[in-house]
Amino acid sequence: MIDSHCHIDRLKLDTYDGDLDKAVAAAKEAGVDKILCVGIDLEHADQVVGIAEKYQDVFASVGIHPLEKDAAEPDLETLLKYAKHEKVVAIGESGLDYYYSADNKEVQRERFRIHLQAAAQSQLPIIVHTRDAREDTLDLIRQHGDLDRAGVLHCFTESLEMAQAVMEMNYMISISGIVTFRNASELREVVKNIPLDRLLIETDSPYLAPVPNRGKPNEPKYLPDVARCVAGLKGVTVAELAEATTANFYRLFPKALR
Ligand SMILES: [Zn+2]
Ligand SMILES: [Zn+2]
Repeated sequence: MIDSHCHIDRLKLDTYDGDLDKAVAAAKEAGVDKILCVGIDLEHADQVVGIAEKYQDVFASVGIHPLEKDAAEPDLETLLKYAKHEKVVAIGESGLDYYYSADNKEVQRERFRIHLQAAAQSQLPIIVHTRDAREDTLDLIRQHGDLDRAGVLHCFTESLEMAQAVMEMNYMISISGIVTFRNASELREVVKNIPLDRLLIETDSPYLAPVPNRGKPNEPKYLPDVARCVAGLKGVTVAELAEATTANFYRLFPKALR
């Protein structure tokens, strides 16, 4: 199976003697054979891309997270430059988070616009982070998004209506370990209603470790815990879920096939 969204440049590697090789090997051992390492600022973009260069089974994306307030602002030229790299398969993560930050909405919107432009111009999909910003997220995707070259709403915690609205624009929905949390019954109901051919799974590590490791530093090797939960909700086996989400991953990120 594929971890479609994580930040392995930020993993806590204490149990691996600080050695990322061992964390990647542990993931593989657990059945997680490909990993998409998602960028959150330009300051670390070279590091993220460098990890993807080092590991054949790791891909990268480049973008500026809406909550990285001190990060350098994105510029189209730089994003497009990174987009040309053979291991960069997506733009992002970018988006709007009014839950944790409602005081700089216009800055967030401007950043998101630039990422949507970069995605359209580079013909790469976009990885979208959105929380409590439903209308603005949908408006910006509609105005600036390239509807053929879609994207993904990652770590999805929004309503079924939100999921349906973006699926109409060819987006996929990625589910993180939050789905395993005891208090996430609404999200579990939403997942039941998302078609199997639109789902991706992710750890978003080092954050949001799934049950039964909730509270520990997260890492890609815990992805099967997310997969088991989602498979149960969809009424399929873990193998069937892995097969479907892997196919979806390559449909969304075709550059990863090269
Ligand atoms: Zn995010
Ligand atoms: Zn993330």
